[in-house]
Amino acid sequence: MKTKIVCATAVIAVLAGAAPGNPTRFGAFALDLLGVGVATAAAAKTSAAGAETGGSQKGDFGPPRGAPIKAVLLGGAAGGFLGPDRLDVRLTFEDARVGGYTLGSGVIMVLDASVDLVDLCLRIARFFRDESCGQCVPCRVGTVRQEEALHRLVAGRTIGTAADELGLLEDVAAVMRDASICGLGQTAASAVQSAIGTFGLFGSREGT
Ligand code: SF4
Repeated sequence: MKTKIVCATAVIAVLAGAAPGNPTRFGAFALDLLGVGVATAAAAKTSAAGAETGGSQKGDFGPPRGAPIKAVLLGGAAGGFLGPDRLDVRLTFEDARVGGYTLGSGVIMVLDASVDLVDLCLRIARFFRDESCGQCVPCRVGTVRQEEALHRLVAGRTIGTAADELGLLEDVAAVMRDASICGLGQTAASAVQSAIGTFGLFGSREGT
């Protein structure tokens, strides 16, 4: 846990060009929850392409040097995925806005082939369901519905077709994004929607 927080502070510091400070509560929790390979921003420098270098020695987070990259999750659990074809994006707010990705909390998670993206989405959905304080309905109900729909898709016990469930997830995501009171609910579906859209999870895209 301690090492992961240090990693998060390094990410934030390098991206901000400042000395390491305290990570946001959200970023630290995201790292702890997901428990998968995390590349330091020291490796990533100013573009996601730098993440290709991965861990340089035993004990580093992230894929070993030279391991193929399956995905990069920018911004932690509230962020979005990039596929291996987009590792050259620049990590600036301006480029992110134009390119349709997010820097979010500044966390960069580099995932190799050993990472199960469906399982990762389930972990993220569980995290948001746990962390929702319950004050507003869109987030309180939406985070539960999101996790339930994902579990049905994984188990193959969909209500209607898989496309129906994906449509439901999209609707729930829109409601949480537009009607939740705070940032947690507003971003609770971001990573899941991004994974579905980027990688065609659950057959959401032909030929993937
Ligand atoms: S959006 Fe924020 S205020 Fe609303 S239930 Fe979620 S965590 Fe609580």
